[in-house]
Amino acid sequence: METLDNIKLDIPLDIGRDFLEKVMGAALNAPMERLLEEKASKCIDSIAPKAIFDRFEIEKVDGDLVYFTSADLFNGPHISKILTGSKTAILYIYTLGNNVDRIINEESLAGDTLATIIMDAITTSLLELLGDFVGEKIKKQGIEEQNWSSTCTYSPGQYKWTIEEQKILFKMVDGKRIGVELNQSYLMVPFKSVSGVYGFGPEDRIDKTRVACDLCPRENCIGRR
Ligand code: SF4
Repeated sequence: METLDNIKLDIPLDIGRDFLEKVMGAALNAPMERLLEEKASKCIDSIAPKAIFDRFEIEKVDGDLVYFTSADLFNGPHISKILTGSKTAILYIYTLGNNVDRIINEESLAGDTLATIIMDAITTSLLELLGDFVGEKIKKQGIEEQNWSSTCTYSPGQYKWTIEEQKILFKMVDGKRIGVELNQSYLMVPFKSVSGVYGFGPEDRIDKTRVACDLCPRENCIGRR
């Protein structure tokens, strides 16, 4: 099991703009430009990016079931599809930390809806940056042989993999070690956290799904990749 602490992200000056313009469906007006600039430093100062991940050997995939040599089991048509042909999987959890949730809640309680939307867009974009950073680290470790490659990543709660499977992922990778826990609805606390799986194996055997969105019916989703 490996943990990454004090992660330094390469943050663009206009972090959050692309996501906001997607949400708004238009270019930002002057007041929003000012708020984006003002809130960006507040959000960036509040993050404490951390990650934890671990490697597991896949015993077999049978129908919707993925059996690990650790005696753990995933159940879902899409996670089994993505891990079919993989020899190993790396399970991960990453987070921006508690402070982000706190400052967004404070803004929301203060009744500033626009500022809350902007801070949510900035921190969602920061979480995506952290995901790319952690993904690169994981792929470097997961590709154990020359002819190996990695699958796309998939997370509990995504289409046709129930959120309840979070409890299995958190049993296999201890999120508490980076301050992440599950609430009664299997949602992660802090809220700005992500968990998931990458599969690894011979390039000609592993699943070729490009990205989770390709398996998802939500055509008009603003997060669609
Ligand atoms: S389309 Fe949206 S909901 Fe579906 S997997 Fe992609 S980001 Fe997630």
